[in-house]
Amino acid sequence: MTSLSELPIRDDLRGKTPYGAPQAPVRYQLNVNENTHPVPEEVAQHVVESVARAVLGVNRYPDREFTELREHLAAYLGHGLTPESIWAANGSNEVLQHVLQAFGGPGRSLLGFPPTYSMHSIIASGTGTTWIAGRRDADFELTPEAAAAQVAEHRPDVVFLCAPNNPTGTPLGVDVVAAVYDAAPGIVLVDEAYAEFMPKDQPSALSLLPGRERLLVSRTMSKAFAFAGARVGYLAADPAVIDALRLVRLPYHLSALTQAAAVAALQHAPTMLAMVDDIAAQRDRLVAELPGLGFRPYPSSANFVFFGGVDDPQATFRALFAKDILIRDVGIPNTLRVTAGTEQETSYFLEQLAALGPGGA
Ligand code: PMP
Repeated sequence: MTSLSELPIRDDLRGKTPYGAPQAPVRYQLNVNENTHPVPEEVAQHVVESVARAVLGVNRYPDREFTELREHLAAYLGHGLTPESIWAANGSNEVLQHVLQAFGGPGRSLLGFPPTYSMHSIIASGTGTTWIAGRRDADFELTPEAAAAQVAEHRPDVVFLCAPNNPTGTPLGVDVVAAVYDAAPGIVLVDEAYAEFMPKDQPSALSLLPGRERLLVSRTMSKAFAFAGARVGYLAADPAVIDALRLVRLPYHLSALTQAAAVAALQHAPTMLAMVDDIAAQRDRLVAELPGLGFRPYPSSANFVFFGGVDDPQATFRALFAKDILIRDVGIPNTLRVTAGTEQETSYFLEQLAALGPGGA
């Protein structure tokens, strides 16, 4: 058997580990922040019909410009956005990869603020971009002053902000985004994968786009929109940025089947998003009930809760796994992260955690 280290792999990839959230067919999958509510039957029906029509044409390459999809995404986002300002790819992970292929790369740097979404540094590494780990304040907060000072110090080519932040759930105000933008010499991307779960009075960075041609806001259909398996992520930015992304994408990167499925689903946006308020209520319930079990939840504007007070995260992870529950140990001492699911899933999780006793031992 050949080992990885024996291969003539790029030096900068030696010793790296791939993204690896465990996948297991357990009943309670609360580890990767999906929407745990299935796609409603009526939407599934329409998606299948659209995909069936598209199949008849797959002898041809798909629309390379995914025009109809961009029209629907622009309409969904609102904020006066037009299709020329929209980009899409197979999950927002691929969108982020396109951004770093175009604006990062060898000799260039990306500043992020860990703990944050693990793929940010992994995509930096895959594209040969130097990852600069910024610092957060106590409780994982990021003030406009602290963030802007770090941008001014490092002068990175690209800054990634995560709003709300994964894995901590920490909200990030548009004041931070504006301050970072003013301090940054290059591209500023706000990863808003969980935007639909934010409190309704919390503005999106989309509201800052006019007049800021170096600002990019990425979104996904994987979370609130209950479409993770279809792999559709997208981004809004100045049309010139979209032109830059065209230089690095592979032609026809979004299959005709993906485009048909996403366009059909977007026509049912209110139905697809119907469970968002319920999920946010379960998130708030987790934050309210975890202290009574001896844990310390952090504030969250996303569909998951990060909590401290865990004596041995791996032991608790394993004990819950034995009860058919998968949650996430992101490697931060004494903490775990759990996705807010249905009311029944959340109840079962809380019951099983309570049974382990304070500290989760
Ligand atoms: N950004 C953040 C902050 C995420 O948590 C995730 C998924 N875990 C993604 C982007 C990627 O999602 P997708 O590729 O499914 O759009």
